[in-house]
Amino acid sequence: MSERQPQKELNGCAASLCAWFEEGQRHLPWRIEPTPYRVWVSEIMLQQTRIEAVLGYFERFMRELPTVQALAEVDPDRLMKLWEGLGYYSRARNLQKAARQIVSEYGGELPADYDALKGLAGIGEYTAGAIASIAFGIPVPAVDGNVLRVLARLTGCERDVMNGAVRRELTALAASLVPTDRPGTFNQALMELGERVCLPNTMPRCEHCPVAYACAVAGSERAAALPVRAPKKPRRIEERTVYVLLTKGTPGAVLLHKREDNGLLAGLWELPNTLRTSTYTLPVAGMRRVSDWLPLPESRHIFSHIEWHMNGVLALVEPCELPEGYAFCDEAALMRDRALPTAFRAYAHMLPTWLNQSPTKG
Ligand code: SF4
Repeated sequence: MSERQPQKELNGCAASLCAWFEEGQRHLPWRIEPTPYRVWVSEIMLQQTRIEAVLGYFERFMRELPTVQALAEVDPDRLMKLWEGLGYYSRARNLQKAARQIVSEYGGELPADYDALKGLAGIGEYTAGAIASIAFGIPVPAVDGNVLRVLARLTGCERDVMNGAVRRELTALAASLVPTDRPGTFNQALMELGERVCLPNTMPRCEHCPVAYACAVAGSERAAALPVRAPKKPRRIEERTVYVLLTKGTPGAVLLHKREDNGLLAGLWELPNTLRTSTYTLPVAGMRRVSDWLPLPESRHIFSHIEWHMNGVLALVEPCELPEGYAFCDEAALMRDRALPTAFRAYAHMLPTWLNQSPTKG
């Protein structure tokens, strides 16, 4: 199938999309009160995360950190606790970095300027476009993976949408379609179409699409095969041992380790873990184990480029002096301000039980 000259065919689409969105949009908290701060936080939370998963986090975040100032000043461990379970924690760290930039450079108000927004930590072209158009009414496009898919299908684009030139072409097309009077509505309509109708990896629901009349692949088998994407590199697999080390006594405390400030799960607290070896080794020199090793179930976690295959092991240890980067943490601290990444969920969800009833004999 050949690609079409899109502009002519797509004239009129913006009006159809805006009308469809205004009639059927979901009433989400950041849409009901679209202040720049709320739009920004919601857009960052929604990256790689489903709307349903974000809703509870967003409300809690706004209750505790209702302003840019509050976000700039919150204790980083508390911020991670508010983000616990959402994943991709660098998003939260960048939110705070950007909040501090906004306070120091823009008097605490997000700048009403696309390029200035793009200069803030964690804000790329898509997010800058979303905030600029939705919160400030600036007519710029907001093209994420969902929108790329819709545009590729609308135009019958058979080229790899991850290719820079193709992406730029589709973004330019989106820019040419953005209406000056309702840019935010249009961008949200395209996103919502991608989420609810023009679905990924399956046959889209073309019979419900407000722009099917202008679409190059409406109702055809070809729609499900678009967009074309170069295959991803397979993920690297790492075999790891995760140590659950509890101090003797009830209630006890668990040993946590703070990760380096860069790389995977940067700066987060974790259960100590190492690449798997044939024997178990306590992670802190001089620490004394006072029980047998108790093997725990295996667990897996998938990051974007890497997959952890973990085996857990538990033991009781004597409380001892710890080097920097390690801490014994009781249940109250775990609940209040120690966010453990989702990767450790299989073990972390048992911690309250283990801390209150010693799972192994000392
Ligand atoms: S007609 Fe179908 S393929 Fe085309 S944009 Fe609408 S939902 Fe997507």
